[in-house]
Amino acid sequence: MSAYDVIVLGVGGMGSATLYHLARRGRKVLGLERFRLAHEQGSSHGVNRIIRLAYSEHPAYVPLLRRAYELWRELESRAGERLLFITGGLDVGPPDGQIFGGSLRSCLEHQLPHEVLTAEEVGRRYPGFRLPSDLMAVYHSEGGFVLSERAILAHVAAARELGAEVHECERATEWSVEGHGIAVRTENASYRADRLVITAGAWVGEAVPSLARLAVPERQVLIWTQPLRPEYFAHGAFPVFNMEAAEGRFYGFPVYGVPGFKLGKYHHRLERADPDRMNRGIDAEDERVLREGITRYFPGAGGPTLAMKTCLFTNTPDEHFILGRHSQFEQVAIASPCSGHGFKFASVVGEIMADFALEGGCTKWDLGLFRLNRFE
Ligand SMILES: Cc1cc2nc3c(=O)[nH]c(=O)nc-3n(C[C@H](O)[C@H](O)[C@H](O)COP(=O)(O)OP(=O)(O)OC[C@H]3O[C@@H](n4cnc5c(N)ncnc54)[C@H](O)[C@@H]3O)c2cc1C
Repeated sequence: MSAYDVIVLGVGGMGSATLYHLARRGRKVLGLERFRLAHEQGSSHGVNRIIRLAYSEHPAYVPLLRRAYELWRELESRAGERLLFITGGLDVGPPDGQIFGGSLRSCLEHQLPHEVLTAEEVGRRYPGFRLPSDLMAVYHSEGGFVLSERAILAHVAAARELGAEVHECERATEWSVEGHGIAVRTENASYRADRLVITAGAWVGEAVPSLARLAVPERQVLIWTQPLRPEYFAHGAFPVFNMEAAEGRFYGFPVYGVPGFKLGKYHHRLERADPDRMNRGIDAEDERVLREGITRYFPGAGGPTLAMKTCLFTNTPDEHFILGRHSQFEQVAIASPCSGHGFKFASVVGEIMADFALEGGCTKWDLGLFRLNRFE
């Protein structure tokens, strides 16, 4: 049996960052990933993820975001590759809604640079948008996106350079506490370590059954369409956005990396999913739901559909993250930061999970919002 300081179960967005921070602190670490790195079965694929400092979900995220930006830049320097792109961001919605109101609140509470724009002002600045006149927007200049698959590969490469072992295509089938440490069995082998960090994404309920009812996977779909007015949606001319509309919450990106304007809708068709059995195909209703938003609010992007992909959210009841140590076993820490908005934090979550694994659960961050036992 090989022995490690820490085993990281699941090497996606959060696991790759956790491995890097542990290896950077000189620890002997093993990452176990059931698929290939940066695969398309989990939550982190599809080229990019929005990052923003203005945070409509809760102002308490803002200090973590400042650190996340810093750490993304640090990873870029190490990797010699650009991973974080600043485009500016728009949070659009009714003046009394959660997206507009929450974003403004976080800007005011944390003195973030921002502008409040009417629908007409948004349309003048960004002609790709056609917004109903009763919507308002917060423009925040730090908004942008992180290249999610590239970021996973960069974190793993950096961790490996620092001595981490990462085993792809090796599924952890069981873990148990043994004395002061833990043991993890996989389809091929058994490993021992002092600590275990579980970053299993949509499979967290399989790895920690007591979380199955609190971290619930949900099927999502992304679409890329051919813009009719490419100049409106080009990188450099169009911001990332979140938008609370009559049909639900849409989000999108300027064209980058692959052809097409990329858009998604939070909670898409409200389909709970089992990640091992989810329908990963696309049907006409998936396309209709997303094209409805494009036709109505982004008509200049309404050319043919170029691509669609399924993906997985893992939602908590209050849509805030779960970050903490296992309630029974102090050797085990768990990160489930999703509910559709976790990727941007991966860099800082890696640092926090390294604190949980190595510093006896002590971290400088106020993580009260993310306590594991808040639902009891
Ligand atoms: C469509 C979509 C759009 C999103 N948009 C945004 C956005 O714009 N901005 C943002 O910040 N966030 C966004 N998110 C959320 C964000 O992508 C997630 O919060 C993030 O990807 C979660 O990372 P993770 O490490 O928890 O999961 P993953 O990256 O899926 O990693 C979990 C890993 O664990 C592995 N694993 C599981 N079980 C085992 C096992 N038993 N043994 C070995 N390996 C195992 C899996 O194979 C997987 O690789 C979006 C999510 C989706 C689906």
